Amino acid sequence: MQRIEHIYIDGEFVTPHGEEWFDLYNPSTEEVIGQVRLGDSHDAQRAIAAARAALPAWSRTTREERLAALRRMHQAIAAREDDLMEAIVKEYGAPAVRGRWMASFPAEVIAQAIETLESFEFEEQVGIARVVLTPVGVAGLITPWNSNAGFICNKLSAALAAGCTAVIKPSEMSALQTQIVIEALHKAGLPKGVFNIVNGRGDVVGEEIARHPDVAKISFTGSSAVGQHLVTTGAATMKRVTLELGGKSPTLVLDDADFASIMPLVLNAGFMNSGQACIAGTRILVPRGRLAEFEQVAKEAITQFKSGDPRDPETAIGPMVSAKQWERVQNYIRIGIDEGATVLAGGEGRPDGLQAGWFVKPTIFTNATNQMRIAREEIFGPVLTVIAYEDEADAIAIANDTRYGLNAMVLGQDVERCERVARQIDSGRVLINTLAHEPRAPFGGFKHSGLGREMGKWGMSAYLEPKTLLRA
Ligand code: NAD
Repeated sequence: MQRIEHIYIDGEFVTPHGEEWFDLYNPSTEEVIGQVRLGDSHDAQRAIAAARAALPAWSRTTREERLAALRRMHQAIAAREDDLMEAIVKEYGAPAVRGRWMASFPAEVIAQAIETLESFEFEEQVGIARVVLTPVGVAGLITPWNSNAGFICNKLSAALAAGCTAVIKPSEMSALQTQIVIEALHKAGLPKGVFNIVNGRGDVVGEEIARHPDVAKISFTGSSAVGQHLVTTGAATMKRVTLELGGKSPTLVLDDADFASIMPLVLNAGFMNSGQACIAGTRILVPRGRLAEFEQVAKEAITQFKSGDPRDPETAIGPMVSAKQWERVQNYIRIGIDEGATVLAGGEGRPDGLQAGWFVKPTIFTNATNQMRIAREEIFGPVLTVIAYEDEADAIAIANDTRYGLNAMVLGQDVERCERVARQIDSGRVLINTLAHEPRAPFGGFKHSGLGREMGKWGMSAYLEPKTLLRA
């Protein structure tokens, strides 16, 4: 049983002023595997003061000095990949392939920030003016549990590259990962106060960051409800806000698609990260004339998606992160049944043979409409909804008839047509016949899926303010 009793402020591991101990669980066994001592608003204030004190010197560092620091961070985080992998499997339950990706992603995003910083244009001549991009100030970075180490490293490396200092409020449910990240970053030997990490509850430490006048910017990944709340709270101190929120992403299967060959893409898009992915393709739009054929292929293919022990290499879908999340997913399965949709595969309860662990049966609903709650609300579990459409225009209309707009996928044999359709979908990203990822490209959402973008030069720009200089 691991006890995590320190937070990280001003270059040191310190005992929090907060005295609450929070249980950490292994979602595969439902056992308590550790405890983390949570910071409180007093700790958040200390961390903000440290970041503020470090800001003048860090914001004036040269590109080379920042690059050197980021390279040390990269090296230190990369060296802990195996430890991160173990923590991710233990406290989050990610299956092996996904876990490995999540364990290597933190170092990869730092490498991306290095690449962006190497060529970033901080100054530009515009007519008679010199436009200088300057760091916005202290950044408050708030992360969720579904890829905690990756989000910390992504947000922090972009903020530091831009010349900001940071206070991080990681997910309180991911403290094992956070501890490894803190140890690695401490080893990287950055100047004191440049980054500070406070474990704590969202409505205590997160709230203090959102409220505090010395925090100039918030970058948040999490639910749309908390994101909206942060915009409202941040407005009082005119905070800049970047939000990466939820999704209800459409997978648009065109009528010329070869179902057997696209089905792995459809199901992997839907079940990625055990369904706990903001970009998961959870609404599958299928031509009505070929619905029966699609259902048959999907029913057969889903048998390959085993839900169970994340350490078993055959497992594709791990447990839900918490009892609360398991209940939420079960509740949505009941809602789908009550709304009159048909369960094509899966359904309520644990997969056969599993007595413990927050495991869910990979589930597909069919005979659903886009008005049902299972088509409109983010479930955040391995539950997909098939919706029939009449023609291409209807498919595009259904794809766009959602409050979200984070990700979408278009599948079909005629690539030109796929692209024409993709251009009409209101979404931050549209994938055509692929699940590829381009880390240099902007990532973020339309509508309720967020505000602003992360990754690449767009991500870094979100930590900078343009200043116009004119001289006689
Ligand atoms: P959440 O919004 O409940 O929590 C996210 C973080 O915000 C946590 O660290 C939490 O402690 C903190 N928080 C909670 N209340 C707060 C408050 N009042 N003030 C400040 N901080 C507060 O979300 P979650 O349950 O941790 O994660 C799941 C959600 O995150 C899903 O809706 C998912 O779609 C979304 N998500 C989005 C992306 C993306 O990139 N768009 C990525 C991952 C997750």
